[in-house]
Formats: sequence, structure tokens, C-alpha cells
Amino acid sequence: MNNLIDCYMCEEPKVECMITFVEGIPICDTCDIFGASKNFNDECPVCMENGKLWKLGYCSHKFCINCIKTIYFGTSKEKKPHKHWKNIESPNWPFDDNDDDYTIKLEEYWDYEKKYFDLEKNSYEQLLLIRNNSMNDRPEWMNTDLFLEFENNKLLYSIEQYELENIWNKYNDSKIKGNGCCPLCRK
Ligand SMILES: [Zn+2]
Ligand SMILES: [Zn+2]
Ligand SMILES: [Zn+2]
Repeated sequence: MNNLIDCYMCEEPKVECMITFVEGIPICDTCDIFGASKNFNDECPVCMENGKLWKLGYCSHKFCINCIKTIYFGTSKEKKPHKHWKNIESPNWPFDDNDDDYTIKLEEYWDYEKKYFDLEKNSYEQLLLIRNNSMNDRPEWMNTDLFLEFENNKLLYSIEQYELENIWNKYNDSKIKGNGCCPLCRK
């Protein structure tokens, strides 16, 4: 699995190459709005705390990093979920991508999944039951031991991913976020 680093601003785990350490703080490509930021020791004009200030990329105003985070990205009083869905690993598709029917199988399974598996309504056990009852309606290659083992793991993964995504969305919804522009010049 790729080495993932949590961005300080959006808090999402990102691949290492998307992260820049600015003054030791990991910030991802998407959240890097500071341009050539430099820090200064001064009083933050928003929270009035003394400390290091960061200059915004598109105007000359400076704020502390906590205020920048709240204004542009949001901060929550809730505890950050212990896991993001990107931190769990999806099982590997059990067929070789050099096989002639590689894409056909992927597409056939994609259609099957869409038709039968509703993650929102079904538990893992229910999904297994649905799968077992629909084995006659799908191509034989999906019913081999090799594929069934992959599928069981994939269902476990999908359920966990779905749950983690919901937890993460709830956490994001709990964030208090400013209006996303500089509080002094509105840029
Ligand atoms: Zn980010
Ligand atoms: Zn501040
Ligand atoms: Zn400004």
C-alpha cells in the first residue's frame, strides 16, 4: 500500500507525492493556497494569539495556521475518525490483466455488483445470502473458489469502506468553516 500522509488542512490521507511540508506541516496539493508563504512572529488579527503567522498566497495578510484552517477548510470539535477509507486496502482482482477476457470479466462483474449489492441496505451476511441465491444467474467463472474467496473479501472491504465514508462525511459536516476568503480584504 502507498504511504499515506494526512494533510493538516483537509485531514484526508494523501499519497506522499501530493504532500508538501510547509514549516514541518503536511499540506496537500489541493489545500496549498499559501503560495510562497513565510512565517512571521506576530499577533493573529483573528484570534489575537501571539505566534507564527502565515501569509496567504493571494493577498498580503497574515494569520495563524489554526485560523487559516477554520476560515478556509473548517475545524471540528469532534474527534477525527481513527481511520479514513483510503487507509484500508482493497483485495486484488484475482485475474491477470494480460488475459484476453480481463476487461470483459471486470465489466460483467461490475454489472452483477450493481444489480445485486446494495451496501446501503444490506449487511455483510445479507450480501452473502444474496450472492449465494444468485449464483445461477451469473457466469460460471464467478462461482469458482478463487473468485468466491476474492468476492467475500471484496464484500467485507466494501462494507467497511462504506461505513468509514459515512463516518468521515459526518465528521466533515460537524466542521465549522469560515467563508473561505481573507477576513481583512475579502480576497
Ligand atoms: Zn489537503
Ligand atoms: Zn488565529
Ligand atoms: Zn487579505
